[in-house]
Amino acid sequence: MNIIILGVPGSGKGTQSKILEKKFSLKQLSTGEMLRNEVTSGSALGNRVRKRIHSGRLVSDEIIINIISKRLDEKKMSKGVIFDGFPRTVPQAEALTDLLVEKSLFIDYVFELIVDDDSIIERVIGRYSCKECGIGYHEKFEKPKLEGTCDKCGNHDFVRRNDDTEDTVRDRLKQYHHQTAPIIAYYSDAGLLTRVNGMTGINEVTDKFNEIIQ
Ligand code: AMP
Repeated sequence: MNIIILGVPGSGKGTQSKILEKKFSLKQLSTGEMLRNEVTSGSALGNRVRKRIHSGRLVSDEIIINIISKRLDEKKMSKGVIFDGFPRTVPQAEALTDLLVEKSLFIDYVFELIVDDDSIIERVIGRYSCKECGIGYHEKFEKPKLEGTCDKCGNHDFVRRNDDTEDTVRDRLKQYHHQTAPIIAYYSDAGLLTRVNGMTGINEVTDKFNEIIQ
């Protein structure tokens, strides 16, 4: 089973991808996470895309399609993939269709998480994660049970994304509405799209996904 989750930054794509990944033994493919890892490792690709990622601008379609094409060939992807943060432009969506046809694969579901822009600013600028295990928190909505200590691994170091500032989030929202929203029609015309209210709680969104999948 292959799933695409669309939605503005902070709409809960990553959170839901991780839940679906476990439940259905799929593999989450987050292009944002892959690119951040490249930046952290200081690879040639990381150095090429660093500025764009920190300023919240999209990386070129060519780079992204190349990364996805390589990752889809990995054996661990054979059970199915959740695309998180990809595709983000019409050329990426078209390239994904071509890649899947080439590999005799197809998309089963496309979910779009609907969250209003005002809530997004508050959600994104307050989020942070454990430096060790990566579990996510929010300074208002989801604090660790014991302040300063990760619930999952007990670590005391937390990190925030460089691109989670108010100005950058506003730019990323604009980009979503200009560059990514057109792919909604692409998947809707293909009869694959379901829009899901992302303003409810994490469990309610997961229940909705499960209901549609089952
Ligand atoms: P995300 O973690 O999905 O919010 O992505 C973080 C950043 O990585 C974005 O703001 C872009 O700079 C870059 N990025 C991630 N996915 C894509 C994509 N599919 N196309 C272009 N740029 C991307």
